[in-house]
Amino acid sequence: MSKKAEKKETSIVKPPVVTIMGHVDHGKTTLLDYLRKSRIASREAGGITQHIGAYQVKHQDKEVTFIDTPGHAAFSKMRAHGARVTDIIVLVVAADDGVKPQTKEAVKLIKEGKVPVVVAINKIDLKTAVPEMVKAQLVEAGLPVEGYGGDVPVVEISARDGLNVDKLLETILVLAEIEELKADVDAPLEAVVLESALKRNQGPTATLLITNGTLRHGDEITTVGIANPVDGKVKRIMNDVSEIIQAAGPSQAVEVLGFHDVPPAGAVLTTLDSVDKIAPKVEKQSQQAAAANKVALSKTATEEPEDGEEKKEIKVIILADTQGSLEAIAQNLSEEVTIIHAATGEVSESDVMMAQHTDSLIIGFNVKVNTSAKRLAEIEQVRIRSYKVIYELLEEFEKKVLKMLEPTIDEEELGMAKVKAVFNIRGDSIAGSVVTKGALSVNDKVHLRRNDRIIRDSRIVSIKQGKVDVKKVEKDTECGIVFKPQLDLKEDDYIQAFTKIDA
Ligand code: GDP
Repeated sequence: MSKKAEKKETSIVKPPVVTIMGHVDHGKTTLLDYLRKSRIASREAGGITQHIGAYQVKHQDKEVTFIDTPGHAAFSKMRAHGARVTDIIVLVVAADDGVKPQTKEAVKLIKEGKVPVVVAINKIDLKTAVPEMVKAQLVEAGLPVEGYGGDVPVVEISARDGLNVDKLLETILVLAEIEELKADVDAPLEAVVLESALKRNQGPTATLLITNGTLRHGDEITTVGIANPVDGKVKRIMNDVSEIIQAAGPSQAVEVLGFHDVPPAGAVLTTLDSVDKIAPKVEKQSQQAAAANKVALSKTATEEPEDGEEKKEIKVIILADTQGSLEAIAQNLSEEVTIIHAATGEVSESDVMMAQHTDSLIIGFNVKVNTSAKRLAEIEQVRIRSYKVIYELLEEFEKKVLKMLEPTIDEEELGMAKVKAVFNIRGDSIAGSVVTKGALSVNDKVHLRRNDRIIRDSRIVSIKQGKVDVKKVEKDTECGIVFKPQLDLKEDDYIQAFTKIDA
């Protein structure tokens, strides 16, 4: 790798791309608004700047790009596609309210994604602000902050008054420097779709974040790594202050016209003549992301509940035609149903991404699901349920809640075995077990139970008695059981074989 010297010096330090996360009402929008209003480098006098989902802020001659789409959605997109969109996260926590569920969720994402973070303790103008309490809570939530034995920087701000926002930008830039964020303006183009829409007079439009290379007017571009590629020829590039520009470089967010169809949010784009170079990279990234997601998911599934108490819940994202129906649905869903997000309007890709990340189900009530959201939901295996009548929706959710509280309601137990020891042989994890009840057979569906909870489901693929393969083992028999998918087994787990009863 000593080719550096030969390489033309086109590699630049790229501005950090920042996403703001935090609990609802802690001041994310206020902070973004303050930054946008007071900092945008240039602005047409009196002109209305169009909102394009991301913008650049200048601080001491250095740029910072802020992504202005919902934090979770932007982050999920990055995770799902493996494209590293966000370089730094600003975690906003209100000084009078402290660490809340969405703060914890963000901390989890930050740690999983290993993304550098700055904590902005907001609303310090309030008399009720107790920043020290917030810091202690953050440590407790797993984020070791400065001054409390950790090195996560904290800035105390008032987004409303703009107090210490300078300091926040400075801290972001210091983190960026440590990260040595580089890009190459001459490299093949790589851009990520942040938002996209079909606009009445303009056709398909997309806000792109350039992650490497340069996007130029007239470029023939295409998405890579997705089942139905969307291509086009760049007809117009508009920057974050609504100026038409001829080219955009790394970390710039621009709105682009010229697509033949609406490209899905999260998709990676390149120029037609760079597809061969970029496609394998994108594919590899999404495979890695998929594997990482799986690990994260199975971890979540086997995580021991906090305080020894399990919170059973069904998470939903609701999109409804009117505020009235939203309220009616929200008020009547049982308390085991947690509403992650509720809004009026059609189901869009960002809803799908949010659902994918938060493991939620999407409820559409008298609304359409737009085509790209449908496509994305298929790829990400997100469930979208559409209803036209409220009581049908409520009835179905009542059943879901019942099923969650008693998952075995429509099952018949075939047998149970206790895991005495776990052996790992040639990549297989084998449960050395003794049958305590009934019988277990090859092909049986099973629950892995631990401390009386179902941890995961799987299927028996082989049973050995000594060295002999058998099809079935009865009560009091010792045996070795292999499962597919493999289970993360522990001594004293129980394997419960079951069959579904037809309703
Ligand atoms: P978001 O849900 O995280 O986007 O929160 P918002 O930005 O919408 O802020 C929620 C509420 O907190 C609004 O009423 C804001 O005016 C208020 N707020 C935000 N930042 C500050 C602040 O620094 N100080 C005070 N006193 N209020 C703030």
